[in-house]
Formats: sequence, C-alpha cells, structure tokens
Amino acid sequence: MEKFELHILGCGSALPTTRHFATSQVVNLRDKLFMIDCGEGAQMQLRKSRLKFSRLNHIFISHLHGDHCFGLMGLISTFGLLGRTAELHIHSPKGLEELLTPMLNFFCHTLAYKVIFHEFDTRQTSVVYEDRSMTVTTIPLQHRIPCCGFLFAEKARPNHIIRDMVDFYKVPVYELNRIKNGSDYVTPEGEVIVNTRLTRPSDPPRKYAYCSDTIFRPEIVEQLSGVDLLFHEATFAESELARAKETYHTTAAQAARIALGAGVRQLVIGHFSARYEDENILLKEASAVFPNTILAKENLCISL
Ligand SMILES: [Zn+2]
Ligand SMILES: [Zn+2]
Repeated sequence: MEKFELHILGCGSALPTTRHFATSQVVNLRDKLFMIDCGEGAQMQLRKSRLKFSRLNHIFISHLHGDHCFGLMGLISTFGLLGRTAELHIHSPKGLEELLTPMLNFFCHTLAYKVIFHEFDTRQTSVVYEDRSMTVTTIPLQHRIPCCGFLFAEKARPNHIIRDMVDFYKVPVYELNRIKNGSDYVTPEGEVIVNTRLTRPSDPPRKYAYCSDTIFRPEIVEQLSGVDLLFHEATFAESELARAKETYHTTAAQAARIALGAGVRQLVIGHFSARYEDENILLKEASAVFPNTILAKENLCISL
C-alpha cells in the first residue's frame, strides 16, 4: 500500500501550555506533503518530524485564529533561508493575503520563491486542490469566524494486471492501459476475456478528514461517510458543554457522535483546552460513544 500518513505537529488550543504546541498537522501522501494549519512552533515540529521541507508545497489554513496560523511567518522566512525556490501555495479563508503581505514585504522581501495565496469561500463545499492522486475538498464548519475543515481523498487507482493471464492470452502491450481501467479484452478470434480474469482490484482509495474548529455540527456527517481517519476537535469535556456552545467548540462526546454517525474507521481527537492536565477524561467520554478513538499528541504518526 502506498504511503498515506497523518503527522500531528501540534494539538493544543489557543492558550499555550508546556504539554502541547498549537494546531498543525502534515498529511504525507506518496511523499508529497500537505500542511494543515500552522500554529506557532509548526516549523520546529516539522523539523522534529524529519519530514522533508522541500516536499511541502501546499498549506491549508482552516481559519484565521492565531493558534492556527501564527506559525506561517516563521515557516515562510525559514524556507527562504534554506534557499527554497519552489512556489509555496497557501489556501485559506478570505483575508490572509491582505494580512500577511505587509509582513512579507517587511521581513521577507528577498525571498527567492513565490508565496501564492488561494482564498476559498467557507460557506460551501469546494475542491481546493487536485492532482493525479488526490483531491482536497473543504468541509464547511461553524465557528466564531469563517472556518472550514478539509477532506483529503485519494483517487481510485487502476486495477493491477495479472501478468500470467495477460501472457496466456497474449494481450498486446497497447491494450494494457484500457484493461487496467476496466475494459474486457477481445482476442483476434473474437473471444471476450472478461476484465476480472485479467486484473485484480487495487486497494480501495483512502480518505482523511480534518474538522477544527467548530461547534457540534451533525450536518457534516454526510460528507464524512467513508472516511478512514477523522480528526475532530474535542476542546472540552461534557461538563463544559455550555462553554463549548458559547465558544463554538465541540466536546469529546460530540466529536465521537460525529465519528459514529459518519461510520468512520478511526477517530483522533485534539485541540485540547489548556484546562485539562490529563486528557484521559476526554478520551473516556469519546470512547464511550465511539470506541476506536485515540488522543492526538505531538509527533504522533498515523498510517491510513
Ligand atoms: Zn483553535
Ligand atoms: Zn478558532
């Protein structure tokens, strides 16, 4: 199976603690890196992860709260010091380019690479990135300011050719691509060899979804169906339900209800409030609803 990994760089919330870095993650799909949010300290954590800086060309920012984007200036500046020449694309809700441009002009006017901003509308689902192997789609969330989650969906891969069968039927090389994509083979004598005799299916495409920050929003369940791994914020325990509502955040049990409703394979919770010295209370409450839950933590790597 080809590489599809989630690296947690930081999973704290707005108030800093000695236990957590602010929110940032990296998705590694077949050695292409995609950063999600870039809280303070993200570049230090990226260094620790030993992921290659040069393989990171796209950063997705969920919303313009500091704990999700204060790390950008440092990261952009360091990329410059490291001699980066490849364009860096930053996808975010409206407003980031306007905010960062004066800072870039002041601190990073000698950058040898371009920072290209792409802004999206957080109120609707849209594909914000696509290449041969995957798409990234926004998941509209509801927070105190415009905010989106992201769905990373691998594209279906062509079937695998069964070499012995292809040799047996003397299938010409120029037919192989069509067969990989599902066509039957017709021999020169007119005999139809059905595709299933010539190929075996490739591994099913995998999906990762990131939802932070948001109030409990059961409507997103539909978009999350078929997701293998879901990261959902779980800022508070159930005793802080009112506070969660007030601040447009989610409790651990609510995050688990999203996972359960969507039928995801695994849930990882994070964006922990600084008040929890021991986050096992959050794990306990989430696991009671959705057993296959784990706590995010710095430097954790999950393979999909
Ligand atoms: Zn936050
Ligand atoms: Zn926020």
